[in-house]
Amino acid sequence: MSFSNDVRYELTRVMPEKDCCRKAELSALLASSARWVEAGDGSDLIVQADNAATARKIYKLLKDVYGLQAAVSSETKKYFGKNHIYEVSAHIDTENEWIQQELMPFPRALGKPVASSLLGKSCCKRAYLRGTFLSRGFVNRPEGDYHLELTFNDEHLAAEVQKLLARFELHAHVFERKNSTVVYIKESEKIADFLRVVGASNALLEFENVRIIKSMRNNVNRQVNCETANLAKTIDASLRQTDLIEALIARGGMESLPSNLRELAMLRIEYPDNSLQELGEMLQVPLSKSGVAYRMRKLERLAEEWMDSVDS
Ligand SMILES: [Zn+2]
Repeated sequence: MSFSNDVRYELTRVMPEKDCCRKAELSALLASSARWVEAGDGSDLIVQADNAATARKIYKLLKDVYGLQAAVSSETKKYFGKNHIYEVSAHIDTENEWIQQELMPFPRALGKPVASSLLGKSCCKRAYLRGTFLSRGFVNRPEGDYHLELTFNDEHLAAEVQKLLARFELHAHVFERKNSTVVYIKESEKIADFLRVVGASNALLEFENVRIIKSMRNNVNRQVNCETANLAKTIDASLRQTDLIEALIARGGMESLPSNLRELAMLRIEYPDNSLQELGEMLQVPLSKSGVAYRMRKLERLAEEWMDSVDS
């Protein structure tokens, strides 16, 4: 199962305790995936869901909040690559029309895509975001690129949800994709915050674990790169030194050097892979790393001077 499906599955099992939150979440689940069809002495509410767990949650919320007895059916069809479509339908009598008013106050006509009466409290805002993710959310697995998105077929609803996210310091961006408006978050910390806000605790744990491992791996890579660079510098220096010393020997210039520099020159040739510190420890009178570095610079300078004087 994909990480996104894990999150959704986990969210289908989070059942709000308070009625206010249940209504808010139900309203989000219904927003733009529900339709009302006139039937007999009232109307039928028909909601589509793309998985059984979400359909069950809608079924349960309708029952718990409004005492409605819904029916669930599934249909197999090709729909955005998914094979099953679930439909939850419930009949609402004329005397219960207020339910429709409460959940979907004819959003377009009022110019308001969300019933603000449902979103007064922070707990309800969280519930609304949970329902929104359930019905139109996607989050990439944390091992890949960080990406969470909510896709809407109504730009006003998208804008409303963007505002809702901002109330939790989740600043989302928006772009248009074909006929949809996509609200998305790219920052890993913010995606973790979103999972926390909607109550996907297990998914959050997994997300954070992978995030930690990834950042540790980045640190290790940086360290290895750094060590590799230092090693390359050491090897370059050693090659330069051994070339110079061998040229000096070939041209009979070794005797021009003081004995302490000759000793270091011979060690350099004999141990080309050793660090200056290691060479320092091998000297008859051992020297510290900086002491050897100083002596090596002097050796290089004198050797070059001697070669220049011979050449000219
Ligand atoms: Zn609430």
